[in-house]
Amino acid sequence: MRTIPHNNSIHQFEKQNLVTVEDRRGPHDVLQCSKCGMKGKIRSFGTIEVSSSYSAKRVNGCDGKTTIRKIRIRNFRGVNPAFDNLTEGSEHEVIEAPEGKDSDRGFWVQGVGEPVLVLLGEYELVARA
Ligand SMILES: [Zn+2]
Repeated sequence: MRTIPHNNSIHQFEKQNLVTVEDRRGPHDVLQCSKCGMKGKIRSFGTIEVSSSYSAKRVNGCDGKTTIRKIRIRNFRGVNPAFDNLTEGSEHEVIEAPEGKDSDRGFWVQGVGEPVLVLLGEYELVARA
């Protein structure tokens, strides 16, 4: 399961149920993006849960049609000299994944001397200018 912050989503989620529904993990509202059709659940204010069968690119890009250009570092845990510029709250331009690497699990940015992958949960999206 992937989660996205409710207030930082580029999707246009709309509530689908009239009354709160319940599954094994408790009550929630069912959401669907009116632009790309992505489905999600929201249990308490704060985060939206979506199936992990959606790629990070899809989750972050509303069907991939929207291009994310910048991310802000939040709770980054990587320990490596190449990550020295990824300080809490710093913003980074998103770059293309290096050849042979995929970007399904996060975003590539320029680290110190080499491209580095910032994983889902270690960044927040910066609104497009
Ligand atoms: Zn969407």
